[in-house]
Amino acid sequence: MRDWMGRNLHYLRLSLTERCNLKCIYCREETDFCKAKQELNLRELTQLMNVMVRLGVTKVRLTGGEPLVRKDLEQIIHMVSGYTQIQDLSMTTNAQGLCDRIQQLHQAGLQRVNISMDSLDQERYRRMTRGGDLQQVLNGIDAALREDMQVKINVVLVRSENDNEIDDFIALAKEYPVDVRFIELMPFSALGTQNDQRVLGSDVLKLHPELTAVAPRYASQPSEDYTGTDFKGRIGFINPVSHKFCKNCNRVRITGDGRLRMCLGRDEETDLRPYLRQYPEQLYDVVRSAMYHKPEKHAFEQAYRAARAMNQIGG
Ligand code: SAM
Repeated sequence: MRDWMGRNLHYLRLSLTERCNLKCIYCREETDFCKAKQELNLRELTQLMNVMVRLGVTKVRLTGGEPLVRKDLEQIIHMVSGYTQIQDLSMTTNAQGLCDRIQQLHQAGLQRVNISMDSLDQERYRRMTRGGDLQQVLNGIDAALREDMQVKINVVLVRSENDNEIDDFIALAKEYPVDVRFIELMPFSALGTQNDQRVLGSDVLKLHPELTAVAPRYASQPSEDYTGTDFKGRIGFINPVSHKFCKNCNRVRITGDGRLRMCLGRDEETDLRPYLRQYPEQLYDVVRSAMYHKPEKHAFEQAYRAARAMNQIGG
């Protein structure tokens, strides 16, 4: 459907849980804990998908928290992929344990994966994720490529942490058929609000004049894509802070605890659980009205810090 600004909202970011087996330094604080009890079950997720499809959603990305911590993930994927209207079904994951499940996930209908990997150095990776195993990520990427699935790698650049690995990540896109996307740090944690920690896409490009711009893979994608000579993959820059793309934003988010959030960079949310559980006949109108009133733009540049951590919203 179109909102009051005429934006075509057809892309659903569906967070399945706020639980995560990692605690990335830019995503949440070390002391945070999660409440599994708030999650929507398969029946509620189906109710929600029925409404979303009626409202014109054609593209779904599963996220979290970490979607792989849901034991019923394969069933959820099977349910979502069963809608003929859904043309694109992907998942964002930290890939811990992905390689053991990728085949079942693919068979259930998952088409693409976005894998977070902020360092190619085991020690740094472990530090940035507070406990992750880099080898698991590499195995997951390998397994997804063997399944012939499109793989995108998300790298959140943090100054003086992993910005000395930019060249290595660019080399990865040259050698392998993967898109590496550098993401600007957003204000979702104490670290995320430190503007001097943010590495801008334009800074990376100044150091790499050999990269040349290419047309986006699809209209209104948030990343600006580049390539180099003999590259098998692409380099993408997602610059939500320095380059707003709100004008073309086509996204709707459902948080891990069933709230509709119409803008990543604004705290207003509509709790859908009462409508899923007690007043289902009102669900469609409530969602439709919130979608129609999607905020014009995010508030990142106004000293904004999100009230909830990224794992609670769904990145
Ligand atoms: N657990 C999964 C993962 O690690 O990919 C999915 C959830 S995670 C919240 C989704 C994406 O949000 C990841 O690519 C992560 O790097 C990104 N993200 C989280 N906090 C961020 C922040 N403060 N700034 C920019 N990106 C962030």
